[in-house]
Amino acid sequence: MNIDLTGRTALVTGASRGIGEAIARRLAGTGALVICAARNLENVERVAAEIVSSGGNASAVQLDITSDDVRDRIKAVIERQPIDILVNNAGITDDDLFLRMKPEAWTNVLRTNLDPAFHITQEVLKKMFRARWGRVINISSIVALSGNPGQVNYAASKAALIGFTKSLALEIGSRNVTVNAVAPGFIRTAMTDALTDEARTALVERIALRRLGTPDDVAYAVTFLASEQAAYITGTVMNVSGGLYT
Ligand code: NAP
Repeated sequence: MNIDLTGRTALVTGASRGIGEAIARRLAGTGALVICAARNLENVERVAAEIVSSGGNASAVQLDITSDDVRDRIKAVIERQPIDILVNNAGITDDDLFLRMKPEAWTNVLRTNLDPAFHITQEVLKKMFRARWGRVINISSIVALSGNPGQVNYAASKAALIGFTKSLALEIGSRNVTVNAVAPGFIRTAMTDALTDEARTALVERIALRRLGTPDDVAYAVTFLASEQAAYITGTVMNVSGGLYT
């Protein structure tokens, strides 16, 4: 199967490292122009420059998805270049046991992982509707489905993204815009580097494929959902957890 996204433009939030960086690289590898967004401009510029030096098309934009002017920032991006593929990837954790969880930990996680999907997707959809083609891919998490102690805030934000995905898919399918979610299991990134060796070993025992995932494992799923070949798939959650939870 040859995935060719030449002529398409993708916006990937949180593209400065980890899963978002891998998604940006893989989408660029299919011929798409990829706009890499994150708060740290230097890091997204590095990712975009590496894509360009390996023959792809990419640009970088400094964007805090929690900022009050996020809609204006997205409008400015779209004015320069309409977006065909939106990957709502940027996300954070702020774990604690529920009774100890500070209100700020709850608010910050919801503000970063959920609210921007509303604001950014609403802005991006207008041009997708006009083009009668679009892909929205939300990066959820397997813990949205399984739950995870110490992650009430994170699991709630990621479960909400699944409800968002399914409802929006039903609402806009007639415009030929698909909306899907990807639910990664435990993937080797800065987010999981904090695990102790002991915790990692115990975790791997629970994974059917007996390893943590790689950012590319997730990026391939996203690339497929972005492709022409996935035109008849909408409102789904793709489980990329190595069988951690089925
Ligand atoms: P990561 O390595 O911590 O990277 C997070 C990315 O998001 C970075 O590029 C970061 O760049 C960006 N970001 C964070 N806050 C932002 C903000 N306010 N505005 C704009 N960009 C922001 O995380 P990851 O492991 O690659 O995770 C990526 C996504 O996959 C997240 O949604 C995460 O919840 C989800 N996920 C991860 C795993 C896993 O095991 N790693 C499992 C399931 C789901 P800046 O700091 O420069 O802004």
